[in-house]
Amino acid sequence: MKKILPLFVFVDACGWEIIRHDRFGADFAPARRRLRSVFGYSSACIPSILSGRWPAEHRNWCYFVYDPARSPFRLLRPFRWLPRAVTGRRIFRRWLSKFLRGPLKFRGYFDLYNLAFRHISLFDFTEKKNPLQPGGLNRGPNIFDFLAARRIPYHVSRPARTEEENLAALRADIAAESIDFAFLYWPDLDGLLHRVGNLSPEVPAKLRQYERRLRALLDHAAQHYDEVRLYVFSDHGMANCDRYLDLRARLAALPVRMPEDYAAVFDSTMARFWFFNTRARTEVTACLEQVGLGRILPDAELEELGAFFPDGYFGELIYLVPEGVLIVPSDMGERPIRAMHGYHPDDPHSYAALLTNVADTPACITAIPHLHTLMVRDAELAHAANATEAEVPDIAPAIR
Ligand SMILES: [Zn+2]
Repeated sequence: MKKILPLFVFVDACGWEIIRHDRFGADFAPARRRLRSVFGYSSACIPSILSGRWPAEHRNWCYFVYDPARSPFRLLRPFRWLPRAVTGRRIFRRWLSKFLRGPLKFRGYFDLYNLAFRHISLFDFTEKKNPLQPGGLNRGPNIFDFLAARRIPYHVSRPARTEEENLAALRADIAAESIDFAFLYWPDLDGLLHRVGNLSPEVPAKLRQYERRLRALLDHAAQHYDEVRLYVFSDHGMANCDRYLDLRARLAALPVRMPEDYAAVFDSTMARFWFFNTRARTEVTACLEQVGLGRILPDAELEELGAFFPDGYFGELIYLVPEGVLIVPSDMGERPIRAMHGYHPDDPHSYAALLTNVADTPACITAIPHLHTLMVRDAELAHAANATEAEVPDIAPAIR
């Protein structure tokens, strides 16, 4: 029997609006609060949670950037001759993404999404490492670097495994009483929400499944640890998309062209531009201002959001649409999806959530990067408590 297990359960896209009117976890994690998310997608949010820093500091923000000199995708150039009917298929791209991870030495999640093969050798992929490992961020340490440096034994999910497999692996480490810290990652709610939207009855059904699993996990952990400090949290929420914006078609009407005059990556909720002449900047800016749906984010606002990059690495101009609008087709998808995230953190459905059985969670924990503070605090607390127990010489077990 050990003393303390900090149990951090990351439920992707389990936003504040998703659980606000639902009693999710009320019996085993009664203290709940809203957390401000980080501007960007999970590619930005997860590294922020793991490091306690914002994208401008850890430099994990959006997946694709204009960087022809460092593009690993030159080997895909021959595919530009294949018909779009083949290369545009999700199944073809999934297969190719999986096949490429090895030769490209990508260790994290990798997907080609909908990036056009015609332009693919202009772009680099920015998440080559697995953020859920020591050394996994583009800049600076994450929680796993901290745990490794302090020699605190921990468990962390592997993204390649299913939710059930990761849960089974965690249960085994708990049974062995070999860990002082656990980080469990459940991504499936995110996929479900993208598909069915945030009002589908499938969403509360999924929450009930998570509750059953968590109750069983807590019962199991209670047999091996005196105190289980549970934190269930998310990275962002999910907004239904009811309006579509074909930004590529708007820009195609301009006298300036990609890749001669500018480069652009169309994410689902933002478009990022790099300009090669003044005319391109003027024309694209005027076009975006005429669209009337989104807006160009000023540098000062990006700075406030922790997502301003003075070197323009992720784009010299960032265009963002409001909640409920989907840029489609985009480099993320050819066809509309029901719901999306990656809007402004102050849009209602962007907010994340924290649910816990720990009463003394400080009031200053208000944004998702602050979860790192809780992880460090609890890992040190558990490691100290568990070590004291282990170091007591086992001379008189009968009287202990
Ligand atoms: Zn998502």
